[in-house]
Amino acid sequence: MSEFSLLIQEWYRLNKREVPWRKTKNAYHIWLSEIIMQQTRVQQGTSYYQKFIDKFPTATDLANSDEKTILNLWQGLGYYSRARNLHYSAKVIRDKFNGDFPTDYKDILSLKGVGTYTASAISSFAYNQKKAVVDGNVYRLLSRVFDIDAPIDSSKGQKLFQKLADDLIDSNNPAEHNQAIMEIGALICTPKLAKCNECPLLNKCLSRARNTIPNRPVKEKKTKIRTRFFHFLIFKYDKFTFLEQRIEKDIWQNLYQFPLIETDKKPINKEKVHWKKQFHESSQITHLLSHQRIQATFHHINSLPSVKDEKLEKILIQDINDYPIPSLIDKYLKENIHLS
Ligand code: SF4
Repeated sequence: MSEFSLLIQEWYRLNKREVPWRKTKNAYHIWLSEIIMQQTRVQQGTSYYQKFIDKFPTATDLANSDEKTILNLWQGLGYYSRARNLHYSAKVIRDKFNGDFPTDYKDILSLKGVGTYTASAISSFAYNQKKAVVDGNVYRLLSRVFDIDAPIDSSKGQKLFQKLADDLIDSNNPAEHNQAIMEIGALICTPKLAKCNECPLLNKCLSRARNTIPNRPVKEKKTKIRTRFFHFLIFKYDKFTFLEQRIEKDIWQNLYQFPLIETDKKPINKEKVHWKKQFHESSQITHLLSHQRIQATFHHINSLPSVKDEKLEKILIQDINDYPIPSLIDKYLKENIHLS
């Protein structure tokens, strides 16, 4: 075992967080946890993990469910393509692998929504296979310990980091090695603050010695943020309102929303809107996604739509929680309880 691996595993045994998916070797449960935990904080992810394994104890149970139920359970986690991919892949597990989660790395990697990181995580955590994980935490930690300036968003850089992670992994205990390296990246060597005095790698860390911590890891490209202007029309008549499903290949695909008008600029041109005479109140929310900034305005209209639209579904306002809706709308409804 490398000294690196020894140090991180010793630290891990004493300092790890207790999370339910680290207590199981059930590959299906580990897969669920890995997909849920992408872009999600541990505290929030834990309750979703529990909800999913309670409702769908096996991959076949998940496969046999309908998409609306799954999206509803997923609500609030964001990045809904993850939930759709889970459902799709659960059907593959049911039909191609007789309901048993695959054990072969290539088969795991072939599942929709599973990349090399997730396949390595499942292979090592569930089956103790020697597959080194490289996620954002590992990139940051390795780039600092070894003071590597190769960009982590270049294919050359990614190959270099994968090779380094493969060289460092402990053959006898790849699962614990992988957990340890990610945990130190998540808790100690964080993006904003490197807690070097608590770090088991302090004496080996080149970035620390050379004062390059703030410059590691290196990224080639800057993330471009696109601003979009959404105008939601909340029709309210008697106890009813209207929703439409987002069927386009775009954010929030297959979720439900209030009828939407998207514009290029902030103010809505009411002359172009069929319901122009009916607008009378509005509130705004700015919502940040990884590559988009949504500036949403909610227009309240106390009547039925004056124009017939096939896409619109008339629902009882009290039933809105039966529909999977984007967290932006959920947040708005919670802050405006008079609506629901
Ligand atoms: S010593 Fe500091 S910079 Fe280096 S790996 Fe540890 S926390 Fe990160």
